[in-house]
Amino acid sequence: MPLFPQSVEELTDHFARLPGIGRKGAARLVFHLMEQNAEDVRAFAGAMIAARENTVFCQECQNISSGAVCPICKDEERDHSVLCVVAEPRDVAAVERCREYKGLYHVLHGVISPTRHKSPDDVRLKELLERVERGGISEVILATNPDTDGDTTALYIARLLRPFGVRVTRLAYGLPMGGHVEYADEMTILRALDGRREL
Ligand SMILES: [Zn+2]
Repeated sequence: MPLFPQSVEELTDHFARLPGIGRKGAARLVFHLMEQNAEDVRAFAGAMIAARENTVFCQECQNISSGAVCPICKDEERDHSVLCVVAEPRDVAAVERCREYKGLYHVLHGVISPTRHKSPDDVRLKELLERVERGGISEVILATNPDTDGDTTALYIARLLRPFGVRVTRLAYGLPMGGHVEYADEMTILRALDGRREL
């Protein structure tokens, strides 16, 4: 017989499937929720549903957006000839924090990883190629993390883009090896952008 009600077990299963949580972490979160008042939990669940139901992926950059085209891609003040390719939406937030970058983005939603069985088909590369193929792009900055998978992904994309004759650059290693774009501070990202090199 299970120790806790079925509903609690089910909720724990859901939390345990989230990245970086695990079984123990999931149980901790569920018991925390059980101690909150029902109204707060309802608001939490409602926020989750609303966030999911009111967002799509921008048809241009693939970032999370409330409309078909996100505010960054719509912004006429930005340089539409430069694309910064990042692994995750949270990396866009990190680069935006430095307030220096004025180009557009492309979010891959993952990286190519032979060890984790992620092939080029598992990331949004087709959409990137379509954008470059359409023309008007002069530079693609590869801002995947400076670790094995990030480098593999960057090199793969650089090779893919070679026939198009666009400038392809990689963020400089102001970022620590194995570091993450997401956690880098504004100055580090600024230096990495300034010192980007041709691939
Ligand atoms: Zn967009």
